[in-house]
Amino acid sequence: MVLTEFNLIKRFFTRPAKQGSTQLSVGDDCALLVVPEGFELAITADTMVEGVHFFVDVDPVHLGYKLLAVNLSDLASMGAEPVSVTLALTMPKVDELWLERFAQGLFSLADKYAVDLIGGDTTSGSLTLTIQAMGLVPKQQALLRSAAKVGDLIYVTGCIGDAGLGLKIKQGYVCADDLQALRRFNMPEPRVAEGLAIRSVANACVDISDGLAADLGHILEKSGVGASLDYQDIPVSSAVFEYISATHDWRMPLIAGDDYELCFTIAPENIGKINIDCTCIGIIEQEQGLRLVREGRVSDFVIGGFEHFS
Ligand code: ADP
Ligand code: MG
Repeated sequence: MVLTEFNLIKRFFTRPAKQGSTQLSVGDDCALLVVPEGFELAITADTMVEGVHFFVDVDPVHLGYKLLAVNLSDLASMGAEPVSVTLALTMPKVDELWLERFAQGLFSLADKYAVDLIGGDTTSGSLTLTIQAMGLVPKQQALLRSAAKVGDLIYVTGCIGDAGLGLKIKQGYVCADDLQALRRFNMPEPRVAEGLAIRSVANACVDISDGLAADLGHILEKSGVGASLDYQDIPVSSAVFEYISATHDWRMPLIAGDDYELCFTIAPENIGKINIDCTCIGIIEQEQGLRLVREGRVSDFVIGGFEHFS
């Protein structure tokens, strides 16, 4: 017997609430949230469409995990602590095994951060998934794209380019050591702890979803500044280093998306106040545009990332 919409929600997507902010969860027309005194609610939504954001043969465990991860990454980049999400699920038919595995991936990450799934919508149609995520950030402390200042140092967390390499491996590129890159592509780790650690000391921040150059470009544009990057300082894994050596595709870490590392700017005197895994890659300058220092030469780097309608 095919599960009804109601039973499906009950079976796969109804869990006891963990957060004090959740006053009412799945089951009524709306969920109810409490925002504690002195905090603001950060809200974001991301959609994933079959054939656009993921391959038709994707493992539903990875899909559930990644759908939540990309949303928690947006909260992290604002310095917000995730508390709850809603899930809008459009799928062609009810496939219980698929739902089981999708929910497994989703809740494995939700449980790590005690995030409550508080509601959503379930409809039939081509496979399209949306999560809306909500987080709490102390008033005045959200990390805005518009807050970079001339003289700020530019940092990135972790390593850049692994997810890009993972995508190339999925598309057929052969790589000796592919596991880490594929994992970063399939199950990115949102930098939640890092976002919280830097929120009271950093100036501007973005998460790297569309590519380092494009996402840093958002900070530059919103802040009305420019930047200079030192190519050799961009942190890459040994697998990405080998990929670049073999293919000479040196632009890849600058233009590949899906890493979900944070890129932030911080006044030099504040960097001693944070203790996270991050690397200085450049500096914010008055002169507009992005300049790249590579092999002793300075050149303008034309910013381009993934764009849906072009
Ligand atoms: P309505 O008809 O008022 O839109 P629904 O019948 O769509 O309500 O949903 C019933 C309840 O289940 C609501 O609380 C809604 O938020 C929740 N819900 C629906 N789909 C999902 C889902 N995929 N995940 C979590 N909660 C869901
Ligand atoms: Mg409905």
